[in-house]
Amino acid sequence: MSEAQVEKHAFQTEAKQLLKLMIHSLYSNKEIFLRELISNASDAIDKLRFKAIEVPELLGDDTDYHIDVTFDKDAKTLTISDNGIGMSREEVINNLGTIAKSGTAEFLANLSGDQAKDSQLIGQFGVGFYSAFMVADQVEVRTLGAGSEEGVVWRSSGEDDYELESADGLSRGTQVILHLQDDALEFAEDFRLRSVVRKYSDHIGVPVRMLKQALPPGDEEEDADSEAEPELEAVNSAQALWTRSRSEVEEAEYKEFYKHVSHDFDDPLDWSHNRVEGKLEYTSLLYIPKRAPFDLYNREAPRGLKLYVQRVFIMDDAEQFLPLYLRFIKGVVDSNDLPLNVSREILQQDDRVDSIRNALTKRVLTMLDNMAKKEPEQYQAFWDEFGEVLKEGAGEDFTNREALAKLLRFATTTSSKTDKDKKRVSLDDYIGRKPEDQDCIYYICAETYETAARSPHLEVFKERDVEVLLMFDRIDEWLMSMLTEYEGLKFVDVMRADVTLPGEAKTDDADDSGDEDKQEEDEHPLIERIEKVLGEKVEGVRTSKRLTTSPACLVLAEHAMGAQMRRIMEASGQQMPESKPYFEFNPTHPLLEKLDQEPDEDRFGELVEILFDQASLAEGSTLGDAAGYVDRMNRLLLDLMKN
Ligand code: ADP
Repeated sequence: MSEAQVEKHAFQTEAKQLLKLMIHSLYSNKEIFLRELISNASDAIDKLRFKAIEVPELLGDDTDYHIDVTFDKDAKTLTISDNGIGMSREEVINNLGTIAKSGTAEFLANLSGDQAKDSQLIGQFGVGFYSAFMVADQVEVRTLGAGSEEGVVWRSSGEDDYELESADGLSRGTQVILHLQDDALEFAEDFRLRSVVRKYSDHIGVPVRMLKQALPPGDEEEDADSEAEPELEAVNSAQALWTRSRSEVEEAEYKEFYKHVSHDFDDPLDWSHNRVEGKLEYTSLLYIPKRAPFDLYNREAPRGLKLYVQRVFIMDDAEQFLPLYLRFIKGVVDSNDLPLNVSREILQQDDRVDSIRNALTKRVLTMLDNMAKKEPEQYQAFWDEFGEVLKEGAGEDFTNREALAKLLRFATTTSSKTDKDKKRVSLDDYIGRKPEDQDCIYYICAETYETAARSPHLEVFKERDVEVLLMFDRIDEWLMSMLTEYEGLKFVDVMRADVTLPGEAKTDDADDSGDEDKQEEDEHPLIERIEKVLGEKVEGVRTSKRLTTSPACLVLAEHAMGAQMRRIMEASGQQMPESKPYFEFNPTHPLLEKLDQEPDEDRFGELVEILFDQASLAEGSTLGDAAGYVDRMNRLLLDLMKN
């Protein structure tokens, strides 16, 4: 030890918060700290192995990679040490004193305070190293970076700050020494420790070693106290999981490996493990998580697979092997063809990578399709978490559009009452039960489920039992602008001016422009009077075939931008060209019948304005002149009260 000074450093605020949560809400399954620490040690060895391809000197004499787990029952300590890449002083500060993930502060602010729920969330956030504080009241990290001269000791009790000190005489790698809490002394028992180590490290490609025990396991109380042979033996099989054949790997092992690669505390929803031989040789192990990560929509969030080349770890988050819309997939790809010195830049423009990406994309879509067919409940759980992201794919991945469209799920006008806003109906379901003479798929887009489901545009569809897809995700209108048909059936927006109902569609088949002709025949006397009032606000005024109970609604010209998309574009600061709706009224509605009798043009105008504003409100729009609407309504109410 040198006589270096001890420096005190404060934890970054987020790190401090997370530590607190760790200690207070994740206590139910303490043993996972070992998985996290072994996982870190294994990553550190992977990183060194990779770096040593270019700089072999980093290894020195110490080329026999291993992770050792040892304990001292009297001193109540447990030590996990590796001869991996180690950390410099700066790395220690950055890695163990801060949390670099962007969005962490918001994530923490959004936790509910409900421990059970929060612990799940923290789990998928991936807290790694800090889980040591679930079992230890003091943690000491002694580390020497590969190729570095100066060793560093980090020490903390997991509260506000940590100490740093320089240290001589360390060997390359990292030692994490846990001073166990009194209620965690089971982790200083050989038998218990062995079973946990085996459970969490069997799939790791490096030997995890423990001291050989003189006594057979069983009376473990005695065991740990006795003088053990100072000889180490591997406790795990030390063969990287994906290199084993599928039939040899047990379900529990796949699940453990998932936790290692994903830093998720939960089990995966499903996985697919494949070896491909032929022109390209690679192995992939792809996992679908149960829950969406908090930063699913953060464009900068790391994503992608762990890339290995011929078993050697190359990089985390190799995003080139899957399209952006599959960014939630975790796992490993191990290629036999790529060079060991492959860089992110090379990956971006390599044909082999493109072929692997295409194949892996299909693999994931097939996995989802199988799940949808065989485990519909499970698929539904997937859809609830990741459906919106998959919609990105259906919009942008032209090659796989049919396969992706098959995976989409929607709420519809005939969704059962209990399901209400749940998206449960596939396009195949829809087509399977539509009337024969219906040659399109009807849909409506709105801001919320309620606005969509209660839209006046649906009245005649409901009356005639024609099912309509209800769309209310932000992405939907964009999606529908990309996805124009499915299985040869066009998607038809019921809010558009030119909608025809099943029976009518047939007779109108002959002329696509039939709409305008029909309009010319539309000679209701109210049309001209209403047009005079609404003037520039509308594209036109017409009688409606779609309304049965509402007095009026607004409809869009065929190619006009929808209200939802317009709101999104405007919210992002873009100026949108004006697009005017048609005002459609229901001539048989008592309000319009009365209106037709109204001799006073001022009062007529006032009532029409109100109907127009109400039609805007019904489609979820805000009123340009809300105060004007309120004034008019109040005048009307006053009138009513006078009588
Ligand atoms: P994660 O592993 O999810 O990045 P951790 O909190 O577990 O988060 O670890 C933070 C960082 O500390 C790691 O990314 C790694 O850079 C570093 N680290 C942790 N343990 C070790 C170790 N045994 N050897 C080298 N670096 C480590």
